[in-house]
Amino acid sequence: MPILVVGSIAYDSVRTPFGEAQEVLGGSASYFSVAASFFAPVRLVAAVGEDFRSEDVALLRSREIDLDGLRHERGKTFRWSGEYGYNLNEARTLATELNVFERFKPHLPDAYRGTDFVFLANIDPDLQREVLSQVREPRLVALDTMNYWIESKPEALRRTLGEVDLLIINDAEVRQLTGQANLVKAAQRVFEWGPSTLVVKRGEYGVLMFTRGSRFAAPAYPLEEVQDPTGAGDSFAGGFMGYLANTGNLDEPSIRQAIVVGSVMASFNVEEFSLRRLSSLTYPEIEERYRAFKRMTHFEDL
Ligand code: AMP
Repeated sequence: MPILVVGSIAYDSVRTPFGEAQEVLGGSASYFSVAASFFAPVRLVAAVGEDFRSEDVALLRSREIDLDGLRHERGKTFRWSGEYGYNLNEARTLATELNVFERFKPHLPDAYRGTDFVFLANIDPDLQREVLSQVREPRLVALDTMNYWIESKPEALRRTLGEVDLLIINDAEVRQLTGQANLVKAAQRVFEWGPSTLVVKRGEYGVLMFTRGSRFAAPAYPLEEVQDPTGAGDSFAGGFMGYLANTGNLDEPSIRQAIVVGSVMASFNVEEFSLRRLSSLTYPEIEERYRAFKRMTHFEDL
């Protein structure tokens, strides 16, 4: 089943202890779409500027991402620059330029309106809600956000959260959003606002999932080569939603598998800068790492 995503498409400038890249393709919707496209058809809603490179359109097209909802606006593409120290779990934002997203009004193509799986990737919460208001009765709506929006638009974000089933967010950000240092208590606060499932991304420590009645934990895949953690969260979300949309099952065992598929996609993404690794990835490599993940986390009863 197809997935609808709204989020940022960006030119990123990133420095990590292992190298740097200037003005490379990034953005929450780019990472999400490419990761999800291995499992399900993706319908993209976003804006780019006049400077958006044809090779980047070609990359998205090569993954058969539906670009009917991608608007080419006057002005510049969204820019983000950031850096990481040896603690790769923490990005330090150096600059954010909204550019075309300052005036962007999403208008969904008719063919997108009946999409069952919707991912509101990290972007202005008002834009996330405008997209959602144009979709008819989706089966699953998931949302990601970040400190930038928690600080600048807390009320809009809370309103959007009221219409969401599943929140996927990193640990520092869920603590900031809820004012709760304890993740179990943070999950209870999130449930009061609307979502019934919380997925907490913890960088190299893996992922925790909370529902009202259950908890699940998955580690991150231990890698020898990590170059750039940018987009790990969005690649995780792409693998996670992609797998759920692929099977159409939303029961707990399927959600657990989706968490591991998401972790596999994030683990590939961080091996290289920008979308380089995801764009050279093959499905057999994904299957192989999924199996390695299963072996790594398997243990017998006492
Ligand atoms: P993550 O998966 O959290 O590492 O997401 C990284 C991506 O988020 C980068 O490629 C950025 O272009 C994008 N990004 C950074 N800040 C924002 C923002 N305020 N709104 C939307 N996207 C952003």
